[in-house]
Amino acid sequence: MSNTAAVKKGDQPNFKRIISEVLDKHKCCDCGICQSVCFLAGAGVIKYERPAYRVYDDEKCARCGFCQAACPVTSYDTSDSDYRIFRGFIGNHMSIRSFKSKVPGVAERAQDGGAVTSMLLYMIENNVVDAVMVTRFLKGWEPSSFLTNKREDIIAAAGSKYATNPVFNAITSLKDLPPAEVAKYGVKKIDDLRIAVVGLPCQISGLTKVQNLGIFPSNLIKVKVGLFCFKNYNWMRFQEFLTKKLKIKLDEISKMSILGDMTIKLTSGKVITVKSKDYDTLVNEGCAWCKDLTGHDADVSCGNIGSNEGGTTVVARTKKGLDIVDRARVAGYMEDVGVVNMDEITKQARMKLDRAKTE
Ligand SMILES: Cc1cc2nc3c(=O)[nH]c(=O)nc-3n(C[C@H](O)[C@H](O)[C@H](O)COP(=O)(O)OP(=O)(O)OC[C@H]3O[C@@H](n4cnc5c(N)ncnc54)[C@H](O)[C@@H]3O)c2cc1C
Ligand code: SF4
Ligand code: SF4
Ligand code: SF4
Repeated sequence: MSNTAAVKKGDQPNFKRIISEVLDKHKCCDCGICQSVCFLAGAGVIKYERPAYRVYDDEKCARCGFCQAACPVTSYDTSDSDYRIFRGFIGNHMSIRSFKSKVPGVAERAQDGGAVTSMLLYMIENNVVDAVMVTRFLKGWEPSSFLTNKREDIIAAAGSKYATNPVFNAITSLKDLPPAEVAKYGVKKIDDLRIAVVGLPCQISGLTKVQNLGIFPSNLIKVKVGLFCFKNYNWMRFQEFLTKKLKIKLDEISKMSILGDMTIKLTSGKVITVKSKDYDTLVNEGCAWCKDLTGHDADVSCGNIGSNEGGTTVVARTKKGLDIVDRARVAGYMEDVGVVNMDEITKQARMKLDRAKTE
């Protein structure tokens, strides 16, 4: 007789658990990873519908549990001591310096020093990867991630999009990429494709879980570039706020930054400042549970905190990340503009951890 207790159908992992443990508790960060890993998503088991994944067909679910295992929110449940003691507030790192782009045309579009865009260009133009995944705004300010190997696309996608986004849809769609499309990236078959992705800490953490589960096509991702993130915004509420409350036409916005207050620069040269208390209701509810400011699971993480204006704080965490930073600098894509203020980064990371909700 087998001594393994039989698992009842209802006890097997499935998306219902995500509904009760993540969605109903307003912990979802809108990353889209659950749908990306579901091999039956095409059959309609999970369908992405903003603002949250609510379309789920329990009858069709195979109860593989991948959606639950890959959801980054389940990793927020690690105890605070993981961050405070074992990883440190900033996470493992080999070097932290401030950088500025030396590539013509990047500084004008970049959020800070343009180090992210410069490293992506270095990787594409020096055969480190074949494609990069970056994020742009579609019409109506809907953020959308896409794969490219073109210099002009990478530069055009520079700048922070303060909006949640199912970032890995772009990678999941690779499963169905026809050979002629694969060839556009200079490789013969999809398994040869090497990708660098840019993502927020929650997205990078979910992606790392998918890689650990060994789910295709996460094996194609060779470099993970993280962005620092204190909080993010629900794009639908955000665009409504901009257009209806502030009466701004979206295509008139040339740059936006959120550093406490929100600063919006218009193409006319006009600058609008909004106090944080006036836009805090736009924050994605899931961010209240998030503990990771600096993207601990990335190869290299980038933010503005710790650098002087016009510089990007670059945290190289892995040997691969450090090589990319060093080689992008030596190849003339960016310059080292000095030390960063570690106290500022630690202070913001501690603030994020202190404010994180717990059950
Ligand atoms: C929502 C959000 C919150 C942030 N919060 C903080 C913070 O609290 N403290 C801090 O120090 N820094 C924060 N940052 C990071 C900061 O705004 C810059 O992205 C970072 O300093 C890198 O600047 P850069 O000039 O080198 O990047 P750039 O050269 O401008 O490149 C930015 C890259 O990020 C990609 N990208 C933009 N938006 C997104 C997105 N939503 N999801 C995935 N990829 C995206 C772009 O496609 C581009 O490739 C935040 C960024 C975002 C998007
Ligand atoms: S088939 Fe697997 S990944 Fe898809 S919803 Fe069911 S348990 Fe989740
Ligand atoms: S956090 Fe991401 S993986 Fe988890 S339920 Fe939300 S969209 Fe799905
Ligand atoms: S705070 Fe940033 S990293 Fe954390 S869940 Fe929100 S968007 Fe993701």
